[in-house]
Amino acid sequence: MMSTSTNKKVNPATRVNEFPGEFKAMSESSLMCIYCNHEVDWKKKSILNDHLKSSKHIECKLGAIGAKKPITIEEILQTRQKKGSYL
Ligand SMILES: [Zn+2]
Repeated sequence: MMSTSTNKKVNPATRVNEFPGEFKAMSESSLMCIYCNHEVDWKKKSILNDHLKSSKHIECKLGAIGAKKPITIEEILQTRQKKGSYL
C-alpha cells in the first residue's frame, strides 16, 4: 500500500529520455530546456509538451540550430566548387 501503479516514480532523467534532445537534467529535482536555457517543471508531462509547442521554445530551438550552422549548404557547395577548380 505504498503507492498506486499510476503513481510511478518520475524524475528529471525520465523526462530527458521521454524528450530526447530537448531537456537536460540539472539535478535530482531540476530539469532545464537545452534550447531556452530555462528551468522547466518536469513533474507534469503536459507542461513539457506545452513548452515544446510554445513559440518561445521554437524560436530558441531555431536560433540554436542556426547558430550551429553558420554556413549554408549552398556556401559549402560553392566552396567545394572553387577548391575543385584549383585542383
Ligand atoms: Zn524550451
